[in-house]
Amino acid sequence: MRPALLHHVGRLADDDLPAYLYDLPGLRAHVRAVRAALPRRVELLYAAKANSDPRLLQTLAEHVDGFEVASGGEIRHVRGLLPEARIAFGGPGKTPAELAGALDAGVERLHVESEHELRTLTTVLGDRTADVLLRVNVPVLLRSASLVMGGCPSPFGLDPAQLDRCLRIIAADGRIRLRGLHVHVASGLDARAHLALVAQIMAWADRWARQQGITLAEVNVGGGMGVDYTRPDEVFDWAAFGVGLCRTLERHPRVTLRIEPGRSVTAYCGWYVTQVLDVRRSRGQAFAVLRGGTHHLRTPAAKQHDQPFEVIPDQSWHHPWNRPEVRGEPVTLVGQLCTPKDVLARRVMVDRLRTGDRIAFAMAGAYAWNISHHAFLMHPHPAFHHIDDPAAPVVDDPAAPVADTSAGGPA
Ligand SMILES: *Cc1c(COP(=O)(O)O)cnc(C)c1O
Repeated sequence: MRPALLHHVGRLADDDLPAYLYDLPGLRAHVRAVRAALPRRVELLYAAKANSDPRLLQTLAEHVDGFEVASGGEIRHVRGLLPEARIAFGGPGKTPAELAGALDAGVERLHVESEHELRTLTTVLGDRTADVLLRVNVPVLLRSASLVMGGCPSPFGLDPAQLDRCLRIIAADGRIRLRGLHVHVASGLDARAHLALVAQIMAWADRWARQQGITLAEVNVGGGMGVDYTRPDEVFDWAAFGVGLCRTLERHPRVTLRIEPGRSVTAYCGWYVTQVLDVRRSRGQAFAVLRGGTHHLRTPAAKQHDQPFEVIPDQSWHHPWNRPEVRGEPVTLVGQLCTPKDVLARRVMVDRLRTGDRIAFAMAGAYAWNISHHAFLMHPHPAFHHIDDPAAPVVDDPAAPVADTSAGGPA
């Protein structure tokens, strides 16, 4: 945890925990580096569903080309915050009202997932036009993806054989412009695997377009850039990815590529900070019970991993009994929920963990709070602290204006 963030945690009272900290300078530096690594003919959209916290979206808006959204709610949210932002609307089940709302909101691209959806679009268009990408379940071979969504039976997108009928509907309608294809088939890929995927997608798209006698202006190759929760320091190799995409673009000189990562953009900027309420032992194994739990940070339960964390020791024990603790042994970190599934990290080795210590869970900026079941057991919601220190404060000076501590829920 950066000193500015630690300093902020130090100023929180026990009852201010659990809290989410969002590291805005960290996010800014990260997205700048991502953008800088990409060739200019690659447009970077942020997939808002990963985390649509308003301050994060506003921070990202200066560095991305637009936002990918997946519901009418996300359209209204992003449009309300960022009236000028370019928005692409995807998602497997769009209602007629959502499609009409997307057109009203000036959404720039619609990612069409089926023939029925395309026909529905023709009924809400009126005298407007729409720029669409057809989402295709391209046949690709994938080895290392943690979440495969394509190349096998899937509720997402069109089978290649279904594209012909869509082309006929588009040609007959006249108000729909086909800009190209959209392919999001996997998550959790490293840069090499993702480049191999892009190569397969582009080869397939090229062949398909030539057979149809159409020119593809655009191919959106999706998100899914890997985030390794077991190695927080090993981020997706954006530099290598950018170099690889350069080569791809050389082979496809007239195509604009788009990518729409979510997790790999915001995962690292979020921290879920809490406190050890109790340390206990059961049949030889150590458990630490924390304030909060997976109803605030569902990521480890959803992905079945150990959420990486740092221990922030607390020196101010003032009870007349011995402080429950573990030393140099594996401990399981659980929350306050009355279910054995409320596990944030399982049998992880610690040097020392004492009741009262604080725990800062890292990589809690994507698919974290917003995928959690907040209402279960009616515990208080965490506060949200957006740490911004653009003036690079002197972190050793406790009087330094380190943080903007505007707290409140993420919308
Ligand atoms: C979820 C999603 C993304 C973002 O995926 P990440 O794994 O967060 O990068 C991009 N595109 C589509 C269509 C999605 O469903």
